[in-house]
Amino acid sequence: MNIQVQICGIAVVILLMILSLNRKSIWLRTKRAFLVALLSTLISLILDVLSIVAIVKAEGNYTSFTKGVCKAYLISLVWLAFTMNYYVGVDIGVKNTYIRVHRILAQFLIILISIIIPFIPINIHYTGRNDLYTYGPAVLVTYAAALTYVSANVSILIIFRKKMNHRRWAAGLSWMLLLIFASAIQFLNNSILIIGFASALGSLLVFIRLENPESFIERETGCYNYMAFYAYLEQCYNRGAKISMLIIQFSNPHYLYERYSADSLNVFLKNFSKTLDDCSMGQVFKYREWTYIITFPRKTPLAQARDKIDRALDKVWLIDDSPAEIELQFTEIFNSFIARDAESMMEMIRAFLRDYSGSTETDLILDNAWAEGYKREQEVEDMIIQAIANDRIVVYYQPIYSTEKKRFVSAEALVRILDEEGKLIPPGEFIPIAEDTGLILQIGQVVFEKACRFIQNERLHRKGIEYLEINLSAVQCNRPDLANEFIMIINRTGVDPKMINLEITESMGISSTENLIHNMERLRHIGVQFSLDDFGTGFSNLDYLLELPINLVKFDRKMTQAYFESEKRRAVIGSVINMIKAAELKIVAEGVEEEYQLEELSNIDIEFIQGYYFSKPVPQDEFLKLLDNQKI
Ligand code: C2E
Ligand code: MG
Ligand code: MG
Repeated sequence: MNIQVQICGIAVVILLMILSLNRKSIWLRTKRAFLVALLSTLISLILDVLSIVAIVKAEGNYTSFTKGVCKAYLISLVWLAFTMNYYVGVDIGVKNTYIRVHRILAQFLIILISIIIPFIPINIHYTGRNDLYTYGPAVLVTYAAALTYVSANVSILIIFRKKMNHRRWAAGLSWMLLLIFASAIQFLNNSILIIGFASALGSLLVFIRLENPESFIERETGCYNYMAFYAYLEQCYNRGAKISMLIIQFSNPHYLYERYSADSLNVFLKNFSKTLDDCSMGQVFKYREWTYIITFPRKTPLAQARDKIDRALDKVWLIDDSPAEIELQFTEIFNSFIARDAESMMEMIRAFLRDYSGSTETDLILDNAWAEGYKREQEVEDMIIQAIANDRIVVYYQPIYSTEKKRFVSAEALVRILDEEGKLIPPGEFIPIAEDTGLILQIGQVVFEKACRFIQNERLHRKGIEYLEINLSAVQCNRPDLANEFIMIINRTGVDPKMINLEITESMGISSTENLIHNMERLRHIGVQFSLDDFGTGFSNLDYLLELPINLVKFDRKMTQAYFESEKRRAVIGSVINMIKAAELKIVAEGVEEEYQLEELSNIDIEFIQGYYFSKPVPQDEFLKLLDNQKI
């Protein structure tokens, strides 16, 4: 019975070895470590069978040969524990001191055991085919050594749980538990020899979950897939190996999808992948549909590799036997160390491809400058999320002066973020990123609610403030629900809607004016007013000015400054002012810093002035003091 079990184990291991070796697969360290563990399982199973045969054949007359075979089996068991120990830790990387020390000790122990076991006594118990086992000092030493490796493994699994590939962690643990379980049974009942078989079962489990080369290969093209790319990158980072990469993307997949059937495209892609495989001096991965990534070891000059690929791809490609129009975009990554690990590299690649999706450029570079910008964006995004969660979004107010009433009649609400150290971050640093990530929706709501509460709590209308101007971003305007959300806040805070003026801007690329106009109408209906911000920044569009239901036009600081720069500009801007007045709109001139500017603009009947001349944007309390200091 024991022999049959071991033979089954041998069959399983041989099958796994064939499956692992006969399919193309990237030569990952994990795979090598797995094959070594498989090999030691096989050797130990074979020696197990041989030792049983030797004991049976000896019929009680145990020569040094019989004992030698039994001892070889014991040594092979310790080697099995050692190789499994190596496999479990292989992911973590040689840079880790714990792993390095651990490896040195593990190697020392295996050498020691291999040397001493031949010299320690071993006893053999045999009463029949199914009741045979070895015992004595050599067996005890074997158990002790194996137990040491198993404990070391468990410690690695516990300490590096977060750092390890989760699936390897789970598979390693199951393998280990199976072995512990089998050893316990064999220890308690010497005649059940199942350690070798349990190890074979464990390796089957690991193979299915982790080491099956099929899971790294894309069925249609036979190329390595996304998972393989990730595993390969992880290994490069773990070993501290710098690589360069080339991303090849089809820019016209829609055109190809429309023109050709899925089958024809599959045949074409198979050809394409093969061409890449044949010509490239690196490892080709299919990153996703229509996108390939080729990795090159540091020694391969990227320019030379690229040249070879260009030549191989520069041919007439046939789909359904006719020439097909193919547009490719190349992105070069010279140095994988622009990211700190595989995960951030993957994230960067994803973000880069997203940023350039739809771009018509054929040659791009993902370099350190881009990576730094990306990292900064990530940091800012985190900072915004933290600020929202911890109520660190603050609103400053910049007073707006009426040239007619000669006092402040309104103010613009301008957002800032307080970072963790209490430093004030200006909107220029985070608004663009908040718009890209959609976080501007939450910021916008916070600012709107804070401004509403400010109006209401401080009874600003009694202090001569007729309305507050609040900036809206394009992302907010494009939202069908914006009006509803704002009306809810207005109701909740009890503010008079006439005290609110929302600033919209043309530079923001509103994708559908339908939503914008719908929102504007609903809010205007309850009394909210609107102004057009950033007028004169190059996006000014007469249609906007005439079509949108606005009351105010806000001259950007550049426009205000330009008015004082030359006669020609003054004349042109003067006629723009006349045109706006003809449309019965009022003007706010932003960026007024000098007294003469205030005087001249008052003389040409600009209704409102905003600028450092009066005050920079200030916190609530300071703004209230500014109001207290003026006569109404
Ligand atoms: P904006 O809406 O055109 O706001 C006017 C900007 O000009 C403010 O900069 C203000 O401090 C600055 N400014 C005003 N007068 C002067 C002056 O005399 N000299 C100079 N040098 N600058 C002056 P700030 O506060 O840095 O805001 C910059 C931009 O950030 C704003 O331009 C607006 O587009 C955006 N922003 C600010 N708060 C919000 C907000 O709550 N939501 C949204 N979506 N955008 C906001
Ligand atoms: Mg504004
Ligand atoms: Mg403005």
